[in-house]
Amino acid sequence: DLQLSSAVEVVMLCYPSVMRAIGGSEKIFEYVDRQPHVPPEGTLAPQKLEGHVQFKNVIFTYPTREDTPVLKGLSLELRPGQITALVGASGAGKSTCVSLLERFYLPQEGEILLDGQPLHSYKNQYLHDQISVVSQESVLFARSVKENIKYGRDDATDEEMYRAAELAKAHKFISDLPNGYDTGICREKGGQVSGGQKQRIAIARALIRQPRILVLDDATSNLDTESEHLVHQALLNDSIPCSVLLIAHKLSTVAKANHIVVLEEGKVLEEGSHVELLEKGGTYADLANKQNTGFQRKEGEELNN
Ligand code: ATP
Repeated sequence: DLQLSSAVEVVMLCYPSVMRAIGGSEKIFEYVDRQPHVPPEGTLAPQKLEGHVQFKNVIFTYPTREDTPVLKGLSLELRPGQITALVGASGAGKSTCVSLLERFYLPQEGEILLDGQPLHSYKNQYLHDQISVVSQESVLFARSVKENIKYGRDDATDEEMYRAAELAKAHKFISDLPNGYDTGICREKGGQVSGGQKQRIAIARALIRQPRILVLDDATSNLDTESEHLVHQALLNDSIPCSVLLIAHKLSTVAKANHIVVLEEGKVLEEGSHVELLEKGGTYADLANKQNTGFQRKEGEELNN
């Protein structure tokens, strides 16, 4: 705030016409002094965290759209070592759940618990260290594969990097690259690393942080079928040692999740395993039939589309 105030003062001194144009200094200081919506951080930073998350009857409205609640009494649970998939139409509130989990906003009603304690009672840096988010826009740098993975945690050892890459099903293709982990990533198309491989590198980068909660936000929607299958294998890897929240548009991504939650307009419409939901014959089953993505296969059969 001090730096911002000084910057504002410099603008005021140097550009009086600018100040007049934007209506005087009061508005600016109003802006500078504006308080964030989130209350001060808590003090909890336990040595061991299970990563058990519970959203309990969460009601949430974005501050800019006070008349339109986005989550309307949502309850959701992420269990350690399990993959929970969140599906639902665009605008149902999937990404909003992630923003609340990352504590960018606070719910107006209900609560979000982490290992039984309110999310806001933890230290911010601690929460940041426990939660890794891989999104569609995860950016890789024009540096080596090694630097890109270790960007997740720069004090990680090479062994930890190999382990994260193995979990992300990336170790084999990286080892086969001309310079292995020292191969440079080209950000443009036509480089040595494909889109699906880049995503698995992004997953390795998230896993090297050894998070207790891993969020995969729509990570495969831009990929071709073959790459998508490989990314699924990485995501649906039983040995990923944390609670996984998988946000997906395509139902084919979620069939192997332990638990699937179908959202509609900020509420849970139905939930259960893939097989349970198909048997129920509700919205999920309808969507699965419409998408015709091989959902009628028996459980345990390889998902390859
Ligand atoms: P998609 O699948 O398209 O990503 P989603 O299920 O993730 O959708 P959200 O992004 O959570 O849905 O959006 C839920 C609702 O909240 C939408 O109506 C959206 O317009 C609104 N919304 C999302 N982000 C904000 C924001 N920062 N400020 C105000 N409204 C927002």
